[in-house]
Amino acid sequence: MSAPEEHYSEALAAAVRHTRQWLESQDQRRVGPRLSAADLAADFGGPLPPDGIPATEVVDYLATAAEPGLMAMPSGRFFGWVIGGTLPAALAADWLVSAWDQNTGLRFASPATAALEEAAGRWVLDLLGLPQEADVGFTTGATMANFTGLAAARWRLMTDAGWDLDADGLTGGPRIHCFVGRERHDTIDLGLRYLGLGRPTVVPADREGRMDAAELDRALDLARTGTGGLPSGGSGHPPLLVCLQAGNLHSGAFDPFREAIAVARSHGAWVHVDGAFGLWAAAVPELAALTGGMEDADSWGTDAHKTLNVPYDCGIAVVRDATALRAAMGLHASYLIQDADGPADPFETVPELSRRARGVPVWAALRSLGRDGVTEQVRQLVRHARTLAEHLAELDGVEVLNEVSYTQVSLAFGDDATTRAVTARIIADGRVWMSGSRWHGRDILRISVSNWSTDDADTAVAVEAVRDALAAVRAQ
Ligand SMILES: *Cc1c(COP(=O)(O)O)cnc(C)c1O
Repeated sequence: MSAPEEHYSEALAAAVRHTRQWLESQDQRRVGPRLSAADLAADFGGPLPPDGIPATEVVDYLATAAEPGLMAMPSGRFFGWVIGGTLPAALAADWLVSAWDQNTGLRFASPATAALEEAAGRWVLDLLGLPQEADVGFTTGATMANFTGLAAARWRLMTDAGWDLDADGLTGGPRIHCFVGRERHDTIDLGLRYLGLGRPTVVPADREGRMDAAELDRALDLARTGTGGLPSGGSGHPPLLVCLQAGNLHSGAFDPFREAIAVARSHGAWVHVDGAFGLWAAAVPELAALTGGMEDADSWGTDAHKTLNVPYDCGIAVVRDATALRAAMGLHASYLIQDADGPADPFETVPELSRRARGVPVWAALRSLGRDGVTEQVRQLVRHARTLAEHLAELDGVEVLNEVSYTQVSLAFGDDATTRAVTARIIADGRVWMSGSRWHGRDILRISVSNWSTDDADTAVAVEAVRDALAAVRAQ
């Protein structure tokens, strides 16, 4: 048998070659894909052939055939959804993670990746001003980070209500009443659904999508006194769970944490914060007004693959009550050799047992940027969003619909038909990519600045692309 290294070297060299071509193309290529998934089906589908082919051929075919169906998401001219690019150190670290092939469930089995993730977790807590005693878990994304925080909340609330959730499940137990802002991200509802917590009570929000703390107080009051017609648990008042948001998809707005958390506390509720991209505002001193008080919540979910710019898939769950988190996520099988008194084993803080060392690219991203570099990266995203909003607002026929306090800009161009036509033109043009959406009952064009590599030239191109698309639609 030849040395294992020989089996890898050619395939890896091919992957490096194709990776370079892909990254180098980002500067020039049209942002959108040229082919659809249906167009590509024939290239990848059909019956699996009986015979294999060499790894290098697989890599060459894959890269060549996939290329026309790839969206230039790593490009500084991609402004769709809330996506983010990949920092060089994070991409390279992600490759190492794959090569190391460490099953990062147990500290004992993979000490290096466990220690790296612990260090990365501490850095994140420190950067974002979150409690140092909190447990941190590296999930696939913010959906699962939120799910993880909400699972810990469920365990704590049921336990405090005198209900043995692990033994008896939810059936017959007290109902947890959940409260969300009108403009929470839909994945919060999804997490509640996964957990069997049902549909939440929706609390009104202001124009920017910020939850109204006085309305939250009223809603919690109704649930607690039972006058809202909601069934309450055996303990007299029902367990309460409040989900707040750092970073609204359309406006970038933040819920009023100080007021809302004080209200939630006065009713004995658990507070979870969905900060998929907004949590990172806490790394920027000038944005303190947005995030102030957020550190008083019980759990937080964020993404590393958005604002921090590590490769997919990587989210971060932070839970102050480590006992609740480990009880909700851990398992205690005899074959898992655990250190009973030490820090959590990685599997105790996330839904999975076996997984890749997702926190290592986070460590690499943070180490390459340094503290000031993280602050500067987030600051730049906000600066570009504001510049875009300013220049776009100067164009005749463009309405900027939100206060641009963070990385999101929402636009309309008069009526819905015009807005949709301009959005379609921009995407067809290909210089930039931005998402169409609906907000406040209107079609809108949404811009998210989430890529570390977006620069002044990219935002200038974006303004030109919007201007040209609007002119073309008007000339029709
Ligand atoms: C993106 C996003 C999510 C979901 O995160 P995933 O990483 O896609 O799972 C949740 N909440 C908000 C506010 C988001 O922007």
